[in-house]
Amino acid sequence: MLSGTLAPLRCDELSERLSELIDGERDPAVLVRVRLHVARCPPCARLALELLATVEAMHGLSRLVRPPPSALH
Ligand SMILES: [Zn+2]
Repeated sequence: MLSGTLAPLRCDELSERLSELIDGERDPAVLVRVRLHVARCPPCARLALELLATVEAMHGLSRLVRPPPSALH
């Protein structure tokens, strides 16, 4: 029974879970709950997109500024 362990997130909980995901938490159950919430909550979907876009930009930046392994030898 998935429904018993996947209680709906409230909007304020969603932002906390997003922060955890961005901090590096990769709990699949958390991911599922976040996805379920944003699927039916447009304001949180927009928030999640903005946060994730920021993270993607940061990751892209870290790749850009980090020298390739070959440069370290
Ligand atoms: Zn929400």
